[in-house]
Amino acid sequence: MKTKSVVVIGAGIGGIVAATHLAQRGMKVTMLEKNARPGGRCDQLERDGHHFDTGPTLLVMPLLYDAEFHAMGASFREMLDLQRVDPTYQLVFDDGSQLALTSDMKSMEEQLESFEKGSFNGLLRYLSEGYRHYHLGIEKLVNRDFRKITDFFSLRNLPLVYQVKPFINHYRNMSAYFDDPRLKSAFTFQDVYMGLSPFEAAATFSLMQYCELAHGVWYPKGGMYSLVNALVTLARQAGVTFQFHTPVERIDVNGSTARGVFLTNKEYLAADIVLANADLPYVYQKLLPQDGMIQKLLRKDYSCSTLSFFWGLDKPIDTLGAHTLFLADDYQGTFKSITRDYGLPPNPSLYLHVPTRLDPAMAPLGEDTLIAVVPVGHMNDSKPQDWEKVRDEARGKIFERLIKYGVTGIEPHIKFEMTYTPLSWQKRYNLMKGATHGLSHTLAQLAYFRPKNRHARYHNLYFAGASTHPGTGLPTAMISGRLVANRIIDELQLM
Ligand SMILES: Cc1cc2nc3c(=O)[nH]c(=O)nc-3n(C[C@H](O)[C@H](O)[C@H](O)COP(=O)(O)OP(=O)(O)OC[C@H]3O[C@@H](n4cnc5c(N)ncnc54)[C@H](O)[C@@H]3O)c2cc1C
Repeated sequence: MKTKSVVVIGAGIGGIVAATHLAQRGMKVTMLEKNARPGGRCDQLERDGHHFDTGPTLLVMPLLYDAEFHAMGASFREMLDLQRVDPTYQLVFDDGSQLALTSDMKSMEEQLESFEKGSFNGLLRYLSEGYRHYHLGIEKLVNRDFRKITDFFSLRNLPLVYQVKPFINHYRNMSAYFDDPRLKSAFTFQDVYMGLSPFEAAATFSLMQYCELAHGVWYPKGGMYSLVNALVTLARQAGVTFQFHTPVERIDVNGSTARGVFLTNKEYLAADIVLANADLPYVYQKLLPQDGMIQKLLRKDYSCSTLSFFWGLDKPIDTLGAHTLFLADDYQGTFKSITRDYGLPPNPSLYLHVPTRLDPAMAPLGEDTLIAVVPVGHMNDSKPQDWEKVRDEARGKIFERLIKYGVTGIEPHIKFEMTYTPLSWQKRYNLMKGATHGLSHTLAQLAYFRPKNRHARYHNLYFAGASTHPGTGLPTAMISGRLVANRIIDELQLM
């Protein structure tokens, strides 16, 4: 078979992994990335010796990373210098009570029983459910694509309806395990990693809490961007060519075929296969001829966004651990402000990350690097926000929270600040509505119902990444890249 040429639009995680598999199978792969560097949302900023992971900060589900590196002929544990983070987070509630989430079950028992008598037993039952959801969910819903309707609607899949609780609401399901609302939030807030509210998520997502406690939360030396460096090394070894500062303006289509891409610099690149890793709704809206599909995509649910603050400090703040999470008492109201009002909750939840606790090289000696993330709504035309004003309001609320927690006097030690708002997410990575996790992961948008990894009309136009199957997250983006590469190879063999 003549060597096939592939153009990949976007060098995010899903794109790099797909490119590597295709190049390993002998294809000529060129990656076109609008930004100066690879990684997409898994990005890192560097300023005056301070390093900030601007997107992902938590490496969870390590077994999936092992499997995806293995599939590319490499060892994840050899390529990255990993350390386990335990306790994973320090949770802080509005009433001042705290919970250090840890895999040390003795400590969990002592802590949980002080919140609510009998709750440790609830945790063990909850983890056992999470174990089932994780193994079945990954095998039957995540680690495969659904190319035709019978791949999903089959007798074989029927037991999943009661095995992984897709029709049961995650938060409501918590009543089976805990009464104390603080514990219900402690074991559901992780849904935000999917850009989801636990009040809208399926109970299936208890797989995340199981995974964090059973398989651990990890940190690679040098930060999460080390993952990008490792993946780019594998891609280059396989022969993938990268072109940065190269935005694609549109995909050239004719009849039912994609023929190549036009770049914004007016150059043209022909290709046998076009693979779009850029956010799927954006591709339909900006890179393809309009055929009504974008109207359908715009009506879908989108994940939340964030206001992110990156601070370089001139002194260490030893009182904060690696990951601290402040959870608001009005848990449901917080999510309502995000998902219905598309704004900043009056008393927002707050995530703080101090990477120097795990890797001192993330800041100059005697200084510190601090990241603060406040989940907010995505951009919505019906409720437009002045994001700079909202950001400034959020900054004030962060310092109020910190002072209440006993961490005072940070502001005078801030040497510099960089911030991201939903507008930044949209502009930097072309994320539709600035939704940090792409299309939402509600039941109606998962598995067979998520936009497919091949275009319905253009038979050689494929997709990888967060808004296609299986969904958001670093391991899932890697799986998405592998699944689409396998599909391309299968379909080429049939031609
Ligand atoms: C704030 C935040 C926190 C997160 N936390 C975690 C976490 O802790 N753990 C975890 O596992 N996951 C986390 N995620 C999710 C994870 O980062 C994403 O799901 C994953 O990185 C998505 O990868 P992707 O393959 O969809 O590519 P993307 O990251 O979307 O990359 C697509 C690339 O395409 C490029 N592009 C777009 N348009 C064009 C064009 N026209 N021409 C050329 N290039 C173009 C973009 O610049 C980008 O580089 C987080 C995400 C965010 C934003």
